[in-house]
Amino acid sequence: MIVMKNVYKKYSNGVVAANGINIEIGRGEFVYVVGPSGAGKSTFIKMMYREAIPTSGEIIINGINIGTLREKRVPYLRRKIGVVFQDFKLLQKLNVYENVAYALEVIEESPAQIRQKVNDVLALVGLTHKARMFPTELSGGEQQRVSIARSIVNVPQLVIADEPTGNLDPETSWEIMKIFEEINLRGTTIIMATHNKEIVNRIRHRVIAIDGGMVTRDEFGGDYGYES
Ligand code: ADP
Ligand code: ADP
Repeated sequence: MIVMKNVYKKYSNGVVAANGINIEIGRGEFVYVVGPSGAGKSTFIKMMYREAIPTSGEIIINGINIGTLREKRVPYLRRKIGVVFQDFKLLQKLNVYENVAYALEVIEESPAQIRQKVNDVLALVGLTHKARMFPTELSGGEQQRVSIARSIVNVPQLVIADEPTGNLDPETSWEIMKIFEEINLRGTTIIMATHNKEIVNRIRHRVIAIDGGMVTRDEFGGDYGYES
């Protein structure tokens, strides 16, 4: 589902954040992306949803070469990929329900469909009872659950998460992981950049380690492998 061939990324300041990445990720996989700060993890995953564009090399997502994708096709790509961030990125003026519904309103789903899908996904993340609350009224864990709900409401085949538990306490992080596990069990591919050693070592999945913009390890069921 994801293929990277000789991917190289040099930012305008001269920093090389991807230096010859070759990787294949199949449908339904759960992949952790690990490595020290500044290793190139965010760049690696940003290139998958075209938030960063490679300087050279090929990135193919579901058969589409996103490197050569025309700008007006980018919104269609983004709709097939759910993205979850460390800092949630919720719209502060919208309540929980509206934050999740927003993703469907922009693609002009019918009101009945929107209601059904939003309620289903809020139930999945355990937030039905907080649908009318605003982000500032929620705990960090709850805000992250809203963000996950928003990322999956379109039923994307791929969910990309950049340090989704980075701002959460350990217990809350496990709750969030349970949701990602459930989403993965339903067939969605998950790519997660993380520094959470305990989680990576306990819930085993494929581990792609990045350092200096290169893949230094790629191991199914691997451990975290760093002291941090
Ligand atoms: P990680 O997620 O592993 O911390 P990043 O992909 O964020 O790594 O960064 C890799 C390298 O690229 C770092 O040296 C970082 O400073 C640099 N970098 C990241 N984003 C940009 C950018 N937009 N412009 C210039 N340099 C960047
Ligand atoms: P956090 O969301 O940060 O983990 P808590 O665990 O203290 O915070 O829960 C805050 C609120 O979320 C409480 O109202 C609790 O009832 C609700 N809650 C927590 N976990 C679940 C869950 N798995 N399903 C439904 N509601 C939950």
